[in-house]
Amino acid sequence: MNWDKEVDVLVVGSGNGALTAGICSHDMSKVETGMAADVLVIEKSAHIGGTSAISGGGVWVPNNRYAKAAGAEDSFEAAYQYLDNTIPKDKVERAMLKSYLKNAPKMIDFLHENSRVRYVSLGEYPDYFSNLPGSREGHRSMEPEVINWSELGDDIDRLRPDGAMYVAGKYAITQREGKKMIEDPAEKKRVVRNMLLRYYFDIPWLLKGKGFSRRTTGGGAGVIRLFLSLKDRGVPLWTNTALKDLIVEDGKAIGAVIEKDGQLMRVKARKAVMLGAGGFEHNQAMREEYLPEPTNTQWSAGNKHNTGDSIRAAQAVGAATALMDNAWWCTTKEMPNRPYPFLSIVNKSLPGSICVNMNGERFSNESQNYMSFLLETFAQYQEGNPCVPAYMVFDQTFKNRRSVWPWAMPEKMIPKAYFDEGVIAKADTPEELAAKLNMKPEGLKQTFERFNGFVDTGKDLDFKRGDAAYDRYYGDTAFTPNPCLGKLDTPPYYAVRINPGDFGTQGGMVISEHAQVKNIEGKAIQGLYAFGNNAAAVLPTYPGPGSTLGPAMTFAYQAAKHVFNFNDVKKA
Ligand code: FAD
Repeated sequence: MNWDKEVDVLVVGSGNGALTAGICSHDMSKVETGMAADVLVIEKSAHIGGTSAISGGGVWVPNNRYAKAAGAEDSFEAAYQYLDNTIPKDKVERAMLKSYLKNAPKMIDFLHENSRVRYVSLGEYPDYFSNLPGSREGHRSMEPEVINWSELGDDIDRLRPDGAMYVAGKYAITQREGKKMIEDPAEKKRVVRNMLLRYYFDIPWLLKGKGFSRRTTGGGAGVIRLFLSLKDRGVPLWTNTALKDLIVEDGKAIGAVIEKDGQLMRVKARKAVMLGAGGFEHNQAMREEYLPEPTNTQWSAGNKHNTGDSIRAAQAVGAATALMDNAWWCTTKEMPNRPYPFLSIVNKSLPGSICVNMNGERFSNESQNYMSFLLETFAQYQEGNPCVPAYMVFDQTFKNRRSVWPWAMPEKMIPKAYFDEGVIAKADTPEELAAKLNMKPEGLKQTFERFNGFVDTGKDLDFKRGDAAYDRYYGDTAFTPNPCLGKLDTPPYYAVRINPGDFGTQGGMVISEHAQVKNIEGKAIQGLYAFGNNAAAVLPTYPGPGSTLGPAMTFAYQAAKHVFNFNDVKKA
């Protein structure tokens, strides 16, 4: 066979999983063979980082080194009990859960000890099902340590710049700062003051005209740290280079056909092809084939280039897939003329807003975790509840306290199309608001009355909003007795349309504990590995903050260990 290039390991994609795979393959080969592996990372788009780069960057890793250093009380047994209670047995084999809990802290240790990757433990971020046995109210999730964008040096324009952790698209904040801003008005002032001072006094950076702060947080910081670690090792990362087909011979993956800058090339992979090319969230045909109705690429906040190419390529060589009918659901606000929708998480949970269907009725606990909220939405929609689309509704008091896009803009700057297309509405009474949205006016009026009645007692008799610790994480303690319940009683009233969106799909290749892709007979396809949203999810119910990035990195680490027979008991 004629090859245009030969490497030891071909890694596809440049999100957290793929970058981890590149670093680990390089280092583990060096430890085990004395020679660093020849690794090539390819990325289809012009930018590095995929959805990982615009994410919150959180990773859910119970018993990690940072939690231990902070003195957190936790154990493998408690974390397993929690996962066992949270994830149905027919969705994920128990061996995979155990493998995750055993290897995720080792992956973090490996990266901490050998690379620029650093995290900070989130002591107050609870598990998403905080009322189940084995759950913890903090220290299982971490966020990347802040880093300056300018550390990228010559690669300053190669990273995906449109991250989610920027206030007003410019000023980066950490998850911890975001939480403080909700909780404490004095802290909010302090965080905002520091944010503005840091931004406007950084003249050299302002002169570069990037439009966002040098200080980088969340997923951007996570990807910069991983990418710089890869660069430190001299591992090449080719952008504008897409996987087209896998080449399999005698049941073993031996290479791939890729397209680099429009030219097809055959790349031989002597040891492995590792797939970390994301899900199929931006492939409308695949969404319609697999996901529940209604479904729309425009509701997805996932990376536009994640079109399921590598899932299709793996299926073509006999790979088995699973969990294709599910996604990482999260309500999103679709805004005309913007490339990506906004996630709608925090405001939906805060006191003084509710979500209603087209009858003007509430249909779920707005403060529960976003995955569960949308799984309930789909289930109810299938039974005839008109909850797609739904509207988040709030009053003037809420608007004054919170920043709700697009209402955070001066009203005359909001494009008319937003009103004309039913994306938003404003009115003096609940009935008028409903009428503007073709919603049942009497229904919305009655919902206001019933919901306001729950606020004084602090008991949401319909959906138990605010009962669980997770609900209260994005609550406001100034509201008593229930930090998730506040009255809607100060006109005018406002509405924003919310859709059943996602930040990626969770179905993909069935993998082993070593991230080996299995064929439809359940046997590993030698030399072929997958992780992240390319693989069927390991934590599909989203048990805690960081349930996609944690497994993406862990099974990338597992893949490299398997290829290079790396013994992670001894240190690199
Ligand atoms: P990606 O990071 O999307 O990387 C895949 C890459 O592969 C992309 O760059 C893509 O361009 C490339 N690619 C696609 N096709 C090809 C091809 N044919 N050839 C070569 N390259 C290809 N999850 C968490 O766990 N914690 C969080 O805090 C969190 N916060 C989030 C916040 C937001 C706003 C969003 C949108 C998502 C968030 N998520 C979070 C979800 C998380 O970001 C994704 O699930 C995760 O990044 C998926 O990682 P991945 O490596 O599978 O895919």
